[in-house]
Amino acid sequence: MSIASNLSNKLKELPKSVQLVAVSKTKPNSDILEAYNAGQRIFGENKVQDLAAKEDALPKDIEWHMIGHLQTNKVKYIASFVSLIHSVESIKLLKTINKEGLKNNRIIDCLLEIKLGLEDSKFGLSKEDTLSILNSEEYLEMTNIRIVGVMGMATNTEDNKLIQTEFESLTEFSNSLKKTYFSNINSFKEISMGMSSDYSYAIAAGSTMVRIGSAIFGTRNYG
Ligand SMILES: *Cc1c(COP(=O)(O)O)cnc(C)c1O
Repeated sequence: MSIASNLSNKLKELPKSVQLVAVSKTKPNSDILEAYNAGQRIFGENKVQDLAAKEDALPKDIEWHMIGHLQTNKVKYIASFVSLIHSVESIKLLKTINKEGLKNNRIIDCLLEIKLGLEDSKFGLSKEDTLSILNSEEYLEMTNIRIVGVMGMATNTEDNKLIQTEFESLTEFSNSLKKTYFSNINSFKEISMGMSSDYSYAIAAGSTMVRIGSAIFGTRNYG
């Protein structure tokens, strides 16, 4: 199967309300161009260096999403162009993004990455940490970031019931944040959840954005 046909098959499966982030990490520019020529414009990468290099080399109307763990000292390399950062997991990182947004005279859209599973979830905010960020004076004073929703990764398991429960809990949490902190803010609407193996469960649970890599570009050797 070609990248273009994988892509069109996936798009047929997604409801119109769900955006597709094509996760191109570890894949060459030629693969990205193949998807681009088939109409795809949103691509996700998980390493700053790759994201910056690909942005530099590829068409300018691509929307680049940062989906991986982001170190504060590397925000500066993507701040001028990144269209959405999915992986905000500390107030420190949010402060840095805000500072770099200010330097670049732009508002950078962000998602709060919420820890879903218990096991192997190295990254992501607990629900308590999320609330303490949103309640903080520091957050309220940030002028150059905009939180447009949440992101989560389900536990890597064969237990589909567990995956379902985790995705449903993210939607519930997002709804409660919306009520308390973003009630009149229409831009807070994204729930980024679902990857190649579990996107159908994510969509059933209310995902607005799926991040699909291997089901479009084929399996990766690393990353
Ligand atoms: C790699 C990755 C994906 C895509 O994974 P696939 O299984 O290839 O679809 C989605 N989200 C994040 C955060 C990733 O790192």
